[in-house]
Amino acid sequence: MANIIKCRGFVLNTMPFKESSLIASVLTNTAGKVRLLAKGVRRPKSKMCGAMEPFSFDEIIFYKREFKDIYTLSDAVVVDSFPEIRSDPYKVSGAMVLCEFFDKTLPMEEANTKVFSEFLHFLNSMRKAGSQAVRALVIGYLIRAFSGSGVMPHLDDCVRCHQPTGGSNGKINFSVSAGGVVCRKHHDDTVVLLSLRTVDALKNIFQRTKLEIDDVALREIENFVTDYMYIHLNNLHLHSLKHFK
Ligand SMILES: [Zn+2]
Repeated sequence: MANIIKCRGFVLNTMPFKESSLIASVLTNTAGKVRLLAKGVRRPKSKMCGAMEPFSFDEIIFYKREFKDIYTLSDAVVVDSFPEIRSDPYKVSGAMVLCEFFDKTLPMEEANTKVFSEFLHFLNSMRKAGSQAVRALVIGYLIRAFSGSGVMPHLDDCVRCHQPTGGSNGKINFSVSAGGVVCRKHHDDTVVLLSLRTVDALKNIFQRTKLEIDDVALREIENFVTDYMYIHLNNLHLHSLKHFK
């Protein structure tokens, strides 16, 4: 039995399939992340090819069949292609970081309206952002997305013993491997120093009160984020983050 599903979705990733088709990973509003076979879409005359660009926001129709993990896309119409992002290569490479993160970390077919609306919010902020703000936005939303994966760093007291962390000269020890701030007793080889304002910026991001990161915090967060994801998200490595310089 095939169900016809009509929904909205963001293209996270595509890969060529056979001569003229694509397999697309799409984050939808009602069906979660799905894999769709877009037949013939790489032919020059295909009316769907514009809709298969990364982070394109589309109205899609596909057929869902039991016992299959790839469904057939039957129609895709662009709702918003985010031209203000697409015309700026730096913004494109920033948007690709979130696409790759969600593509690699979201479970298949679990509807998550929060992630969906966060991604829309992210792209809308990116389109308006001045070039100075792009980097902080991308890193801020990437960090915020950790909460959806359940891997937020522990920031209130020592992650190992739950005693106050202390700290000196306005800096706190943050253990990348333990996944949070640590006291002197639980210092380890993966400790990096974070300024108090960086810890505050991280708390604000997770409490969803503010998404502002100043230059100092941005540098300190970038210093550990790659290793943090690798350790706490199943050896996750984002190629797009390496290219986003
Ligand atoms: Zn401790």
